[in-house]
This record gives sequence, structure tokens and C-alpha cells, in this order.
Amino acid sequence: MSTCRSCPGCGCPEPTTFFESRGVPVDVGVQWDSRAEARGCPRGDIRLAFCRKCGLVVNVIFEPQRLCTTQSYENPLDCSPTFQEYARTLALQLIERYGIHGKTVVEIGCGSGSFLRLLCALGNNRGIGFDPSHIGGRSEAEPADSAVKIIPDVYSTRYADQHADLLCCRHLLDHLAAPREFLLGLRQIIAARPDAVAYFEVPECQEIFLGPYPWLIIYEHCLYFTRTSLSRLFTECGYSVQRMGTAYGDTFAFVEARLSGCSQDEQNATLSDLSDLASAIETFPARYARVLEDWHRRLQEIMNRGDRVVLWGAGARSVGFTSAVGAADQIPFVVDLNPRKWGHFLSGTGQEIVSPEFLRDYSPSAVIVMNAIYRNEIESRVQEMGLSPELLCL
Ligand SMILES: [Zn+2]
Repeated sequence: MSTCRSCPGCGCPEPTTFFESRGVPVDVGVQWDSRAEARGCPRGDIRLAFCRKCGLVVNVIFEPQRLCTTQSYENPLDCSPTFQEYARTLALQLIERYGIHGKTVVEIGCGSGSFLRLLCALGNNRGIGFDPSHIGGRSEAEPADSAVKIIPDVYSTRYADQHADLLCCRHLLDHLAAPREFLLGLRQIIAARPDAVAYFEVPECQEIFLGPYPWLIIYEHCLYFTRTSLSRLFTECGYSVQRMGTAYGDTFAFVEARLSGCSQDEQNATLSDLSDLASAIETFPARYARVLEDWHRRLQEIMNRGDRVVLWGAGARSVGFTSAVGAADQIPFVVDLNPRKWGHFLSGTGQEIVSPEFLRDYSPSAVIVMNAIYRNEIESRVQEMGLSPELLCL
């Protein structure tokens, strides 16, 4: 292990390097038009370091300028009924808990704006979203909506006059090299409204390193938070954490924070919560090697039997999994629910992305499920087609 530059969360000067991965696809959410393009995608290196003071894990050689912003980018979760139910429940809870009715919601990194539209429709609110990759009017599911305005730009302080009663930011903070500066800049959005609240959500990294489930170690994730390190960062930046925790089968960490009032949960975010993570980080490289070895063996057995196996879910985990285990030959197809991905190819190993209906004729003997939370949803779908493949959950 070696030491590296200071922690972007707390400024601690010596986070400890513990893991490296070289030549991984830079953009996991981009689908390519040909297998050759997918395999020739831009690649980058990852060197993870752990901060023992605040619990943040950071890719210390992350270069944000390498990320592609011009290729088509699709949220891998929006088409899943399981995720849609989660998003709807979350929106209703935020609206009720903080009285967000007839008010203004700002979402930074809103993607297609589906969550923002939910918040506005369910609470009769007005919404302003920011996302540089947003392209308007892409489908019937994204109708023109006078209550929601999406600005196809990166949020910056020149938009600081867009005051919000609810500020949302989901799965963006973990992509930033300077999270403290970002959170300090966003304070202006909610500073003008005394009861305004911010909701932030990121992947929860505890399972990645404790599992270990290394498939979410991807280039786009510059930072890896736990609910504890996320909460501590907000406190450091002068926010008052109202609630914190995990969601979506413990795969997400969240905080709900204000700029004033007493903190409800921050006292629970103690350094002792970091001891399990610190222990897991120590043994992670050896356990990671064993997990890879196990999957190499399982895939070889599948090859030897002549069985057909597919992945389900053309998202970050699929790119992380196929890149780590090098499964280009054993697994030629990846199923996804999103029609816009069909006929395109997965970054890195270049699997073709197909519809669930493709499986009727292909009739795989095994489906690798990228996230166990989708197991029931996938099982129902394949049973409807008269199929009964073995479901292998990562
Ligand atoms: Zn730190």
C-alpha cells in the first residue's frame, strides 16, 4: 500500500491506496453502434484509496475530462418496474415528509427528468432540472410538461437564483472529484427558503467492499460513499442532516439535509461505523481475486457444457462484471428492458444488447442477474415466455 493526495471529503492528507485496476471502460452508460466500437471504447485506470478519518473511498487518478458527454447515455434503471415503484414511493415520502406541495423542486443531474416529473405531478409542484446530456422530447413517456423545465447544462453558480424548496441530486456526487466545493456551491439554492431541504442519493459502497461485489468499481465512480461518510461530508459543508440511511435493498445511501435546525441523525454517524469498512478494505484485494477466480471457473464450466448464458441488465454492473472477468466469448448477449439500447453494444467487452423477447428463441440455460433486487421481476418475465433458466445472482 502507498499514500496519495489528500482526501476530497475531509482534507485528510494521507488516504491509503489499496486497489488498482487498469484499462477499464471509462463510460459504462454509453451504448455503441458496433462491437468494434464498443471494444475500442475509451479506457482509464482506477487506483482506490481509503480515508480512515471520514470513510471515503476515492479513485485518486480519476480524470473527469475523460468521460464522454456526447454519446447516448441511458439510465439503466428507469425501465424496471421495481425501480419505478421505488422512485414513486421515494417521491411520495419526500413530498409528505417535507410538505412539498405547490412548491419548487430543483434536481441537479436529472437525466431524462423522470423523477423530477414524478415529484411535480404527485405534489403539484414546479420543477427545474439540470443535465447536460438531456435531450428533450425523446419518447411518449417524456411528454412536454409546462410545470417542468429542464436546462441542458451543467449546474453552476450562474443558476444560483433558482431557489428551491426541495433540492434533489441522485447518483451524481459519486462522480465528482471535488464534492466539498460542489456541496458548498449548492447551498445557495436552498439558502433563500427557510424550510428548504436537500435529498442526495449515491451508491452505498459498503456492499462493494464487504461482499465483495466488485462490479460497481467502475471508472465513472470517482467516489465511494457509505451512509456514514456521506452524512459526515454534509455536516462538514455546514448542512444539518435530518435523516440518513440506506435504500433500495441497501444498494443506495441517502441523506436529507437542511441548512438550519438541529441534526437528527448526524450523531449516529460515528467513526465506529467505519471499523467494519476499514477491516473489509484490508482484506478486499485477496477476496476480490477469489471472486474473480470463482467466476472464471463457473464460466469455464458453462463453456465446457455448451450451455447458453446471458446477462440481464446492460448497466454499470454488467460493464464492471464483463470487464473484470473478461466474459466476451462465454456471454455474447445482454438483455435489457430499455428499447433504446437494443441493437447496440456494451462498453468494453462488446456484448450485443437484446430485448427480453430475444430469449424465446435463444432459450438460455442460465441468466446472470446483475442485482438480486431484480430477481423476482426477471423470474416472472422468463416464466411468461415459458422459459426456466437457472438464475445466478451476482
Ligand atoms: Zn476523508
